[in-house]
This record gives sequence, C-alpha cells and structure tokens, in this order.
Amino acid sequence: MIAAAGFAKRKVAVFGLGTSGLATVRALEAGGATVMSWDDSETKRAEAAAGGFNITDMKDWPWRELAALVLSPGVPLTHPQPHAVVSMAQAAGVEIIGDIELFQRAVTASGTGAKIVAITGTNGKSTTTALIGHMIRRCGGHVQVGGNIGKAVLELEAPTAATVYAIEVSSYQIDLAPSLAPDIAILLNITPDHIDRHGTLEHYAAVKARLFTRQGEGDTAIVGVDDALSKDICTGTGARRTAKVVPISVGKTLGRGVYAIDGMLYDNAGSQAVKAGDLRDMRTLAGAHNWQNAAAAYAAGRALGYTREKIFAAFESFPGLAHRMEIVAERDGVRFVNDSKATNADAASKALGAYRNVYWIAGGKAKEGGIESLEALFPHISRAYLIGDAAADFARTLEGKVDYRQCGTLPKAVEAATKDAAAGEAEMRVVLLSPACASFDQFRNFEERGDIFRREVQRVLAETGGAAA
Ligand code: ADP
Repeated sequence: MIAAAGFAKRKVAVFGLGTSGLATVRALEAGGATVMSWDDSETKRAEAAAGGFNITDMKDWPWRELAALVLSPGVPLTHPQPHAVVSMAQAAGVEIIGDIELFQRAVTASGTGAKIVAITGTNGKSTTTALIGHMIRRCGGHVQVGGNIGKAVLELEAPTAATVYAIEVSSYQIDLAPSLAPDIAILLNITPDHIDRHGTLEHYAAVKARLFTRQGEGDTAIVGVDDALSKDICTGTGARRTAKVVPISVGKTLGRGVYAIDGMLYDNAGSQAVKAGDLRDMRTLAGAHNWQNAAAAYAAGRALGYTREKIFAAFESFPGLAHRMEIVAERDGVRFVNDSKATNADAASKALGAYRNVYWIAGGKAKEGGIESLEALFPHISRAYLIGDAAADFARTLEGKVDYRQCGTLPKAVEAATKDAAAGEAEMRVVLLSPACASFDQFRNFEERGDIFRREVQRVLAETGGAAA
C-alpha cells in the first residue's frame, strides 16, 4: 500500500466508498490523517462500517477544518450537475481531489524517482495499460499496474527507485488530479462518450489534455493523431516545448513518430523511418485499433529504453484481456468472440471491422447516437441478434439493411446465433458479442455480461455435441 503524504494530523473527508474509496481511507490513515467517510448508498456505508471504517454523515463533517475532500471518480464533479458534496466543499473552500492526486503526491514525496506511465483515451486504455505492464515485466522492469484497471492506485506497492507504475486514468480521475505529472503520458484517442458527465466534447477533450500540462523536460508525451481533438492536443503539447512528443497513428505516415501501415509498425525519430516490427501475426493484438494500442506501448517501451526486439518479443507473448475480442471457443469454422467491453458504437466498430460473416449479438442499455455510425460495417453482418433496452431502437436502424432477430436475453441470442452460424456456409464465421451498449439494464457490469456469454457458448456447444477448441 502507498501511504498518503502531506496529511499527517489533518482531517480529510472521503466521499464514495467503492474499492478505490476504501483504499483511499486506508492510505490516508497510514499517512497519519484523521479520516471521515460517507457514501450515498446505504449498502456501501454498511459494508464500510462493518469493515471498521469511520462513517460520518457529510452534513456532520467539520467542513471548516477539512484539509481536503477526496472524491470517488464516479461522483459528478461538474456535469450533469455537481453532487451536493461538491457544492458543500466549494462553499467551505475545501480542495477537492481524487486518489490519483494522492498517489502522485506520495510518489513525488518519496523522492525515489519512481516512474509513472499514465494511459488515457476514450477506447483502448485497459488493453494498452495491460500491454505496457506485460512489456515492462518481460523486459525485466519492476512494474506496478493499476488505476482504472485492476488495483486502485493506492493499493499498489510503495515506490522504490526501480518502480515503474503503469496506470490507467479516466478523464474523471484526471479532473481530480491537478498535480499529475507522468514521466510518460499517453493519449490514445478521443471520440464522443461520457458526454453526460463532461457537458461537451470540448470539455471532455480539455480534461484529457491536462494529462500533459504538468509534464516537464525529460518526460514523454505519446499522442494519437488520428482524430481531430487528439491531434490538436498533440500540436498544443508540442508547442509548449517541454516534454518530448511522440505522435502515433494507424494508417498515416508520419514525418516523426510511430505509425502502423497495414499492420507493419514504423518508428521515425525524425530523420528516417525504420521498420519496428510486424503486428499482423500477433493474435491478441488483432485489428487496427489494437495496432494503435501497440504503437503507444511501443513508444512507451522505447522511452523506457527497451530495444525493438525486446518490445516485440513481449508483444508476442501478450495474453490479451478478457472481454476485449476474447476468443472463447472455436468449432467447425465458427469462432466465438466475447467483446462485452465494447460499450459504445465506436468500440463495437473495431470488432465488426476485424471480421466478416458476423452473427452479431448487440444491445443493452443504449448510448447516445445508437448504431447509425456502424452502417458502413453492416455488410460484415450475416444476421443481428438484439437484446436489452436498446433492441427496438437498433431494429429501426437495421431495418431493410441487416437481417435481425429480437432475442430479448443473451442466452436466447447465443442459442439462435450459434444455430445460424453452424448452418452458415462461409469458411470462417464469427458469433460475436460486441453490444455497443452499457450492460446495466440486464447485468451488473460488462464482466458479468461477458462471463454469461462465455458460459452460454459452452452450454450450447455441449448440448449440440462435440468439444470446443
Ligand atoms: P478502455 O479501457 O479504454 O475502455 P479497452 O482496452 O478495455 O478500452 O477496450 C475496450 C474496447 O474498445 C475493446 O473491446 C475494443 O473493441 C475497443 N478498442 C480497444 N482499443 C481501441 C482503440 N485504440 N481505439 C478504438 N477502440 C478500441
């Protein structure tokens, strides 16, 4: 665990008692602070109280004496409107921060020189973070992976001179981390998502841009340039002339930067492009979106001083992440792919783009914009199997363009899709769960949705005879 720095003998409030909130309380107490905490959910409060945490109603906090309010990233700071606890802190002049801020301050205060690699973007954060963690481990480094993925940052091991933290940060976490200054900062891409929580796309982009503003000389900024907002951030970061900027692209040749063309990765330090390696054979990094993740990880690896050969050897042994184009079974020319993590149309477009003859299971809690943006990929779909709240809306978009069936639930969709795919004639067919929706209408989270898909696939395959590969 990492003990919070700078709050000894001071009073600090923590709002939001999920995993990262509880870790925050422990870290603050380890740093000698007096902590009081609260959550809107009675269940969360009861769980925390049972675990021995000091639960005090925020109305009874000694607001004038608080050194800080540490807010869980799930709690609205600005949009759609500030949570009551935020307004109370602002009225009392209390600084509002998040666990990433405590983490950064503790790492700085340790004086160890431990390095921070921070990864953000609308899509691909977890994959890139996991890939970087794997790469550093394979290259012999001492890496700690956490943040939005896996462990909360304050649960990671305390910094040493050799430690490299690879942390996934969401825009909410950046918003609450004014001192965050990563040695290596990565922005993969910005596409419309989470606008409900950020007001406008411009505000969302402005928050992401803050990942780079406190970087200094010797730091590296790795920025995707394939969407207009990220490209602007790349230009702005370059103009500040502090961190070394490494643009990354999939599909565009760059005069300087790291880019993939047809799956071949090139590295151009400014004078001449060299072939860094071939990404096409990497089974767990399939698809152009994953080449963007790999380009970012590669640039990070180079900034950490690893050779091209070592980086590519690490990529080859990357196991991939569950629920992201995860191949869960294969039988008689049918591949079953769990992409439950694709909670918006943009993410789903990656899996649809990577395959042909797709028996596509989609739907759930609808996101703004629906699936209209996927129209160019409709020819990849043999038939769609719709589930959840968004089903009627998706059906309207597909009408007359893609054959579809209303299935209601995931088990029914798996059954129907498997039957159709088994009868299909194309050499390679794919039953794909890539819902383009959040999961909360029918499941606890995307992990549960993906686990049920996996289970149902196994069940249907067992029932229809023969083992799956
Ligand atoms: P995040 O952590 O940002 O949500 P993940 O790595 O968990 O991203 O990937 C989520 C989904 O987004 C994947 O299933 C894939 O469909 C899609 N995806 C992954 N990487 C990218 C990328 N670089 N650009 C666009 N979409 C991506």
